[in-house]
Amino acid sequence: MENVLVTGGAGYIGSHACKALKTAGFTPVTFDNLATGWRDAVKFGPFEQGDLQDRARLDEVFDKYRPIGVMHFAALSQVGESMAEPGLYWRNNVSGSLTLIEAAVAAGCKRFVFSSTCATYGDQDNVVLNESSAQYPINAYGASKRAIEDILRDFEAAHGLQHVIFRYFNVAGADPEGEVGEFHQPETHLIPLMLDAISGKRAALTVFGDDYPTPDGTCIRDYVHVCDLVDAHVLGLKWLQADKGSRVFNLGTGSGFSVREVLDHSRAVTNQRVPHEIGPRRPGDCTKLVSGSSRAVEELGWRPERSTLQQMISDAWNWHQTGHYAK
Ligand code: UDP
Repeated sequence: MENVLVTGGAGYIGSHACKALKTAGFTPVTFDNLATGWRDAVKFGPFEQGDLQDRARLDEVFDKYRPIGVMHFAALSQVGESMAEPGLYWRNNVSGSLTLIEAAVAAGCKRFVFSSTCATYGDQDNVVLNESSAQYPINAYGASKRAIEDILRDFEAAHGLQHVIFRYFNVAGADPEGEVGEFHQPETHLIPLMLDAISGKRAALTVFGDDYPTPDGTCIRDYVHVCDLVDAHVLGLKWLQADKGSRVFNLGTGSGFSVREVLDHSRAVTNQRVPHEIGPRRPGDCTKLVSGSSRAVEELGWRPERSTLQQMISDAWNWHQTGHYAK
C-alpha cells in the first residue's frame, strides 16, 4: 500500500483524514508532536512522534516511509489565541510548514495537500468568497495560513511541488462510527462548547457579540462535516496523482448559519436548551464567512452529503456522549 504522511494525524481533522485514507487503500503515517493531538486518536496507521521544526526527524520519517504525498494538518488554529500570541502562529505554523515543505522537496515527495482556511479572506462585507477573492486576513491565524500558501506557490515555481490548497470554512461533526471525534483542550469551538454547556460539563456558553451587522446580530459561518471535508482531501490527493496540477478549493456548503441559529439547531437535536449568555465580541472574528463557490463539487466531484447542521450536531452529540481520549 502507498504511504501518505499526515502531519497532525493525532488531531481532530487529521485523525478523520487517516481513517478516510485507510478506507481509500492508503497507509496514513501520522507525524505529530502531541502538543494538542491525542495518541489514542492514531488508529489507522503507524505513528511517528516529532515536531515540524525538527528537520532531522522529518528527514528520518521521509526516508523510512517514502510517502507518495503529504497531507499537512498540523497547526495552531485558534483565532483568539493568534491575536494574543502572534509569535506562536508565525513560528509554529509558518516556520514549521516551511521546514516540512523543504524536507518533502528534498525527499522527492512532490504532492502536497494543505489545510488552509477561509480566515485568509478576512472580513469582506457582501462579497462572495470564491477561490479568486482577495485575501486580507484580520487575524494572525489567517495571516500565517496565507503565508504558507505563498510558500507553496514559490516552491512550485522553483521545485515543481504540486499542491492542493483547501480553504476550510467551519469544520464540525465527528466520525459516525465513533472511532474518532473532536476533542480539544482547551476547547474554543462553538459546537463542542455548546454540547459541554448542555451536558453541564461547563458553565453557560458565551455568545461572542450580538451587535454584528447580521439579521440577528451574531456572526455567520458556513459549517462543513469533518467526514465530508476529509473525503475532499482524498480526492485532492488523487487529483495530484492524476497530474492535474496545483489548485485551490474552498470547502464549505455555501449556506451560512448565525450563532443563534446553531443554538436553535442544537436544542432541536438534543432536546435540551443551551444555557448561554451574551458577551463582548472576540477580537479577530469576522462578521460573515460563507463559501461562494462550488469548484470542489464541479472539479473534484466532491459530494458533501453529511454537511447539514442537524447531521453535524447529531454526530458531534453522539461522540460527545461516548467518545474521549486519554494521552
Ligand atoms: N463563538 C461564540 N462563543 C464561543 C465560541 C465561538 O459565540 O464560545 C462564535 C464565534 O464568535 C464565531 C462562531 O462562534 O462567530 C464560530 O467560532 P469557532 O471558534 O467555532 O470557529 P472560527 O469561526 O473561529 O473558526
